[in-house]
Amino acid sequence: MALLVQKFGGTSVGDAERMRTVADNVARTVRRGNQVVVVISAMGKETDELLRMAREVSSTHPGREMDMLVTAGERKAMALLCMAIADRGVEAESFTGSQAGFITDTVHTNAKIVDVRPDRIRAALDAGKVAVVGGAQGVSTDQNVTFLGRGGSDTTAVALAHALGADLCELYTDVSGVFTSDPRLVDDARKIDRISFDELLEMTAAGCPKPAMRSVEYARTHGVDLHVRSAFTWEHGTMVSKEADDMEQAIISAVVHDTDEAKVTITGVDDRPGIAGQLFRALADALVNVDMIVQNTSAEGRTDISFTVPHGDAATAQATCEALQRTLGATGVTTDDAIGRVSVVGAGMKTHPGVAATVFETLAANGINIEMISTSAIRISCVVAEAELERAVQLLHTAFALHDGPALVD
Ligand code: ASP
Ligand code: MG
Repeated sequence: MALLVQKFGGTSVGDAERMRTVADNVARTVRRGNQVVVVISAMGKETDELLRMAREVSSTHPGREMDMLVTAGERKAMALLCMAIADRGVEAESFTGSQAGFITDTVHTNAKIVDVRPDRIRAALDAGKVAVVGGAQGVSTDQNVTFLGRGGSDTTAVALAHALGADLCELYTDVSGVFTSDPRLVDDARKIDRISFDELLEMTAAGCPKPAMRSVEYARTHGVDLHVRSAFTWEHGTMVSKEADDMEQAIISAVVHDTDEAKVTITGVDDRPGIAGQLFRALADALVNVDMIVQNTSAEGRTDISFTVPHGDAATAQATCEALQRTLGATGVTTDDAIGRVSVVGAGMKTHPGVAATVFETLAANGINIEMISTSAIRISCVVAEAELERAVQLLHTAFALHDGPALVD
């Protein structure tokens, strides 16, 4: 007998028929002799709908009330799923985040878990019931309902799997697993059978939309094995676990991309100690979240600094730089919105030389200019013009023959 946490995303429970299909699967899993805890998201686009309603009724959105509102989506879904499961002769009980023992900090709309005390979930399981838990929610240390943020249900599932000592956490979604690239861009993108926490974490940080990055971080920290799979075809998906020493390492596992950032450049700043410190302190004080940073070699005591920020922070970043322009001796500040970032990720590149060279040569051979580069031990990212991004992704996917299956490090 295994203890499984099964998380179902919004599209998986989008309407009554989907609810019944999910209930069928839960009942089937129970009949095979497993204990099951379900974590459920709000149905379909319900969370967006609730946010839209909030905007419609008011321009004032206090965090406490927003969290009370948004968590209602999951509450509705969990009760409905319990009814559908009961129809199949299996007992199920629903639990809010608070009832399930999720204690969070007091940061509304994006709360962080500080403790999980799933006593009531254990009791339900001991009584032979399925526990259905509302995702992305908890109760704060000052006793208010909190929301863990968009994609928070993934984190709920992983945290619960850890707290219960579950055998596996299954994240059911509308795709059949983690792919070597976005299948909408790359025709021959392939489903990955196994991947390490580290690689998936790099992928989610570089634009892979699912699972939510925070949940992958949590899984890595606590060693919670994941199975990312489809609630539509129920086929075997992608297993995510610690990189084992005897596991064959793919040189490159995936090519991911994002278009969420803009590039800000401040030109002609003085090249002397303290300039970067002043600039990035001012940006930090303005709560701008800086990602990639490049400083050019200087010519005649002057240099350019470019950095990327989320689109939403670009205007603040531009204004902050302009305010500092004189102090820094800068000649200008520009923002480029039309950039994209392509990243190749693979644990095998740690021991395999030439990956960076192949990335740069491939882009060069196809006339794609690289505007910025950043790397980690297992990732190489290039910023290119947004108009070239799709082609860059396709070219790199082909260059590393990812359609063929992973090239392994021996
Ligand atoms: N329903 C919420 C969202 O759409 C949270 C979640 O289920 O992950 O972001
Ligand atoms: Mg953009």
